Amino acid sequence: MTDDIKGGLSSLTNYEELDEDVDDLHLSNTDHIHVDEHSHVPTNLHHASFNSLSLKPELIRAIDDNGFEQPSEVQLQTIPAALLGCDIICQAKSGMGKTAVFVLSVLHLLEIEETPKIRCLVLCHTRELAYQIQQEFNRFKKHFVNKSTGESLIKTKVVLGGTSITKDKKALQSDVPHIVIGTPGRTLDLIRSQSLNLDHIKYFIIDECDKVLGPHSSDMRNDIQTIFYKLPRNKQVMMFSATLDDEVRNICKYFMHNPREIIIDEGKKLRLDGLQQYCVKLPENKKNEKLINILDMVDFNQVFIFVSSVTRANTLNGILNDEGFPTIVTHSGLSTEERIERFKKFKHGSEARIMVSTDLFQRGMDFKSVNVVINYDMAKDEDTYLHRVGRAGRFGTKGLAISFITTAEDEKNLQLVRSKFVVPVDEMPESIDKTTYR
Ligand code: AMP
Repeated sequence: MTDDIKGGLSSLTNYEELDEDVDDLHLSNTDHIHVDEHSHVPTNLHHASFNSLSLKPELIRAIDDNGFEQPSEVQLQTIPAALLGCDIICQAKSGMGKTAVFVLSVLHLLEIEETPKIRCLVLCHTRELAYQIQQEFNRFKKHFVNKSTGESLIKTKVVLGGTSITKDKKALQSDVPHIVIGTPGRTLDLIRSQSLNLDHIKYFIIDECDKVLGPHSSDMRNDIQTIFYKLPRNKQVMMFSATLDDEVRNICKYFMHNPREIIIDEGKKLRLDGLQQYCVKLPENKKNEKLINILDMVDFNQVFIFVSSVTRANTLNGILNDEGFPTIVTHSGLSTEERIERFKKFKHGSEARIMVSTDLFQRGMDFKSVNVVINYDMAKDEDTYLHRVGRAGRFGTKGLAISFITTAEDEKNLQLVRSKFVVPVDEMPESIDKTTYR
């Protein structure tokens, strides 16, 4: 369990109370899409373009500005369903462009009104992810501007726990946004104090939905349920994640009407194309020496190092700093402002090329320059492993993941990972060919 998200199965909810129309739910409507091994595009859709999705011209321009040449398969399969107004559960592996699916869909569907109303609410489990999603909305909305004043026609607001709620209240009152992105607790506080009006919501989105609705997230799940009750009946619900087991998928469905399920590569073993994965078996007291040796040896742009607790994160960060490595550390023990500040610094790569982090930072975070992930402390299960190593090798780029295996528990988790991925996780060789991960 991470330091950040505690909870258990004890407060399981009676989901049947969530919505009177639950009986209408169908479990069909599922698309399983299998993709070409070396590309993100399904074999029969290699020549599809963003133009074929009939998005608004302002979006096509922004897509172009951002250098997206072709939609990924998750985008090709999910955006059309989203534009048709379907409720959606989408599972696709990390780094394949899921964020752009809902960002582009909402920006396309949003009617631009003279008097803004909150039309879209996006929830996710960490402050950094909420901030990152806001940045994605901002970069794709940039051509929706008032031609005479140059003012942006679409406003976004991020609401995060650990920041001044008074400021949030004032901002929501004085400058009503169209799109709110938030963590569940702060969003609920603002709703309860009537600062966040949900009466006009048309789009309700949950990113990394298994993280907020799953069995280890009872607090967030309760918050989300309370928020859900307050939303208008007539709305579109979309949920996304890289990992969704049947239990969570069924929970998601209780929030939806006849959802379209889009599952990329389901039923097959998950692959992380382009990612070289190795393990190193060693005792605890040799980890620091080995880590330093690896950092000296590998050719990295930016590195993520995952550890199992806040204390270990701080200690390891200190050790690496003393060794002269440009590191930065983040975890739940820091204030929100500090976390966002460190996130920005690392994202822009200006000061630190190595990030030491707890699992707080694994999910959904997109850092283009990260090509190496090191599990200094092995992931506690195969899904956590997937989310951690998915920080490297994003959107078809190459990457390297190295896991330290120390305890019997680590060994067990390594076996789970090996059984889940097609690619092998071999013992790390003396030297690694740079071209395999750069
Ligand atoms: P995500 O899985 O949403 O975190 O996206 C992973 C990365 O892929 C982000 O840096 C996106 O900006 C990038 N990306 C998403 N869609 C595309 C696309 N169609 N072409 C190129 N890059 C993309």
